[in-house]
Amino acid sequence: MHRRTEYLTHPIFHMNRAETEMMRYMRRLADRDLALDRAMIPLGSCTMKLNAAAEMMPISWPEFAHMHPFAPSEQAAGYTEMVDDLSDKLCVITGYDAISMQPNSGAQGEYAGLLTIAAYHRANGEGHRNICLIPMSAHGTNPASAQMVGWKVVPVKSAENGDIDLEDFRAKAEKHGENLAGCMITYPSTHGVFEETVHEVCKITHDFGGQVYIDGANMNAMVGLSRPGDLGGDVSHLNLHKTFAIPHGGGGPGMGPIGVKAHLTPHLPGHPETGGTQGPVSAAPLGSASILAISWAYCLMMGGDGLTQATRVAILNGNYIAKRLEGAFDVLYKGPTGRVAHECIIDTRPFADRAGVTVEDIAKRLIDCGFHAPTMSWPVAGTLMIEPTESETKAELDRFCDAMLAIRDEIAAIEKGDSDAENNPLKNAPHTMEDLVKDWDRPYSREQGCFPPGAFRVDKYWPPVNRVDNAFGDRHLVCTCPPMDEYAEAAE
Ligand SMILES: *Cc1c(COP(=O)(O)O)cnc(C)c1O
Repeated sequence: MHRRTEYLTHPIFHMNRAETEMMRYMRRLADRDLALDRAMIPLGSCTMKLNAAAEMMPISWPEFAHMHPFAPSEQAAGYTEMVDDLSDKLCVITGYDAISMQPNSGAQGEYAGLLTIAAYHRANGEGHRNICLIPMSAHGTNPASAQMVGWKVVPVKSAENGDIDLEDFRAKAEKHGENLAGCMITYPSTHGVFEETVHEVCKITHDFGGQVYIDGANMNAMVGLSRPGDLGGDVSHLNLHKTFAIPHGGGGPGMGPIGVKAHLTPHLPGHPETGGTQGPVSAAPLGSASILAISWAYCLMMGGDGLTQATRVAILNGNYIAKRLEGAFDVLYKGPTGRVAHECIIDTRPFADRAGVTVEDIAKRLIDCGFHAPTMSWPVAGTLMIEPTESETKAELDRFCDAMLAIRDEIAAIEKGDSDAENNPLKNAPHTMEDLVKDWDRPYSREQGCFPPGAFRVDKYWPPVNRVDNAFGDRHLVCTCPPMDEYAEAAE
């Protein structure tokens, strides 16, 4: 069985032969990254909050780290205690009666939740119900999950103000009444608004025999203040890697447990290891159990009052940004009181006509200012969705707003004809150190190009490359692997 073929032949596996070199290599990669350890990442719907060191410490302790996912339960009493306590807390927070810790992501939670609803319908002799109403504003995972359980997705229109069009919702629920499996809604909506019709939407669905899935990705605007179970939801997922402090930049492991009302409890995903009547949705009975320690520690250290205060500050921060940007940028959707939830969508589409400035130009310019861009073109194309979270200080929020307002001034200069429409700081963003030191033949200064408001003088973030054409790159794959003849040689 001794392997004789070459392996790990790519140079990347051999360039660092000393720990010192390896350390420096990793540091170089980290320096090229614009992460939470450097600046706010205001990605709307992603809830990029602090992942406190104290919350993450336990996951490297051998007691947590070295437990096998299939260890017999009598050897995992500590895990059982932790998971039971976390489940109890999440039930209190959501207003549900039981939690399944199997799903490893929000999307997987949706899938598990819809399977649970489908099993419930089957148990009631109504397995034919297969229509799922989903508002146009929904996250793409919602219709994808409904498709995966074999349901038919019926989209529901948005009203002028971005809310679910209630009449359209009612009409479609009525039309499909006998076959209505349920609906998937998000609260507060992905438009960043607490929709006042949420009770009505749940009631209509229930009246026609459907079940309500409330997407819990926006729980950071709810914890301690309102509960999906009280709004009329039958099942929700929680993104523990959003609201409950598990780090998720760079696609790290997540957890998307679902909470359900009592009538759905018997239909939750089961597992060969732990029993239950349904099949599992995940290899391990408790999903990615080790990282649950992070969310547990977060709840324990915050306490109930602390969690509620975090929600209040998250909502306050979202509204602070919306208010400070008022006049310069239009906030696309607001509630009837003129407020947003914990995030806001700003409309950058008008600048395309007036100044030829696109949402991407603004996103790239924010890199010059030392910020990771907000969520771009989702859920509305050509807009930016900003979610600051409770973790950011007022100073950091102001640094961001100053940067955005300065960008607005740069757009205004183009609108007025004071700045060239093609050769300007927005179109040339982001600026690299290379741009700064090479010959400068631009109609604006080095200072303005490389050090806009928001950028730090000493700890300036320098992007390693200029703008790349993402769409072009996606369609023109360039292989950076060793050439084929090296494979041929290795094969010989
Ligand atoms: C993040 C998110 C999801 C999906 O969660 P994942 O953990 O990324 O799979 C679903 N809905 C909304 C509204 C989200 O923001």
